[in-house]
Amino acid sequence: MNQTHFLNARLADGTVADLAVAGGRFSAVTPAANAATPPAGAVDLAGELVLPAFVEGHIHLDTSFYGDAWRPYIPCTNGFDVRERVAFQMRNLERAAPMEERAKSQLELCVGHGSLAMRSHVMVDTAVGLKHVETILAVREKYRDLIDIQLVAFPQSGILSSPGTAELLDEALKLGCDLIGGLDPASFDRDVKGHLDVVFGLAEKRGVGVDIHLHDGGTLGLFEIEEIVARTTALSMRGKVAVSHAYALGDISADALERVGERIAAAGVAIMTNAPGDHPFPPVAALRKAGVTVFAGSDNIRDSWWPYGDGDMLNRANMIGYRSGFYEDRELKAAYDVVSHAGAKALGLEGYGIAVGAKADFVALKAEHVPQAVVAVPKERTVYRAGTAIARNGAVIG
Ligand SMILES: [Zn+2]
Repeated sequence: MNQTHFLNARLADGTVADLAVAGGRFSAVTPAANAATPPAGAVDLAGELVLPAFVEGHIHLDTSFYGDAWRPYIPCTNGFDVRERVAFQMRNLERAAPMEERAKSQLELCVGHGSLAMRSHVMVDTAVGLKHVETILAVREKYRDLIDIQLVAFPQSGILSSPGTAELLDEALKLGCDLIGGLDPASFDRDVKGHLDVVFGLAEKRGVGVDIHLHDGGTLGLFEIEEIVARTTALSMRGKVAVSHAYALGDISADALERVGERIAAAGVAIMTNAPGDHPFPPVAALRKAGVTVFAGSDNIRDSWWPYGDGDMLNRANMIGYRSGFYEDRELKAAYDVVSHAGAKALGLEGYGIAVGAKADFVALKAEHVPQAVVAVPKERTVYRAGTAIARNGAVIG
């Protein structure tokens, strides 16, 4: 089989290696040989840091306005209110460019920065029906050579408070969504048991994973997390369930966090955070210490929820480190792990990493090592998919 050689790759452990790729996977990782006559066609990475492609663990491909006209943020009338934000979103989407174009702009933004695996939530409700799911499924198909995408059937307008949604969610899973989503069972649907019955019922029926948006804070949110943990254990869904945002974990005492962290870890439930600017968020270090898989995503990029987001998961690692007060190298490495290896674990990715047998999906960038990359966020980088360069300095090539 034909091999492609990459020479002088600096690995995360600081060593410099030569890499060989065959059939889209690493076939050899060996100490740099510095041979007088390098193999024909070899790419000299000249000591650039080589990292496995980043994992974008939570995004919304259907509702971003990236690549479209600027949409000024509309504040809620009386403090953050999910229901009101959804109404703003509906109004904005009516005037937006075609979803397919917006989704492609956002995908290329993410691929350009080095994310080659992604989990996107896609809105399903009685107003839009399955239109968003059908559009994003088609976009996924078009981009399958560039990026692996998991889709979550996401009940943006609740389930019980919007009769007919449960049936649509089931249909979305039949069409090809990989996971079932949820949204604030207490504050949105005002029925924790009813909401989770539908979500976990569909997960069991279709054999899919679960990823629930949970903004509810304090003891209410904590109660919901405990209910999700209990159901995950009861259904033996270890490694297949995630709670996105889980703001409540940022509201509780260190003692309470340690207790619930151990239970979350034991159940194998992952926690997603994007380290939002104005919110308490799950304490990354404490949860990791308890054994919880913490992963990250851009979430909203220039949409009706906020104007921020650049699709760069290395920058997200920087934000997570900054907001977490991470200074030591081991802490900066942890921030990087959240957007890479932990993300791969949360998404259940096969063949992740720089190792023989792993997929040759990687990013080469100018950095001395991981901690410096997290702090400097070098934008000059080359993204390789199955050993072929597909993006350079933020733009998809070819
Ligand atoms: Zn989200």
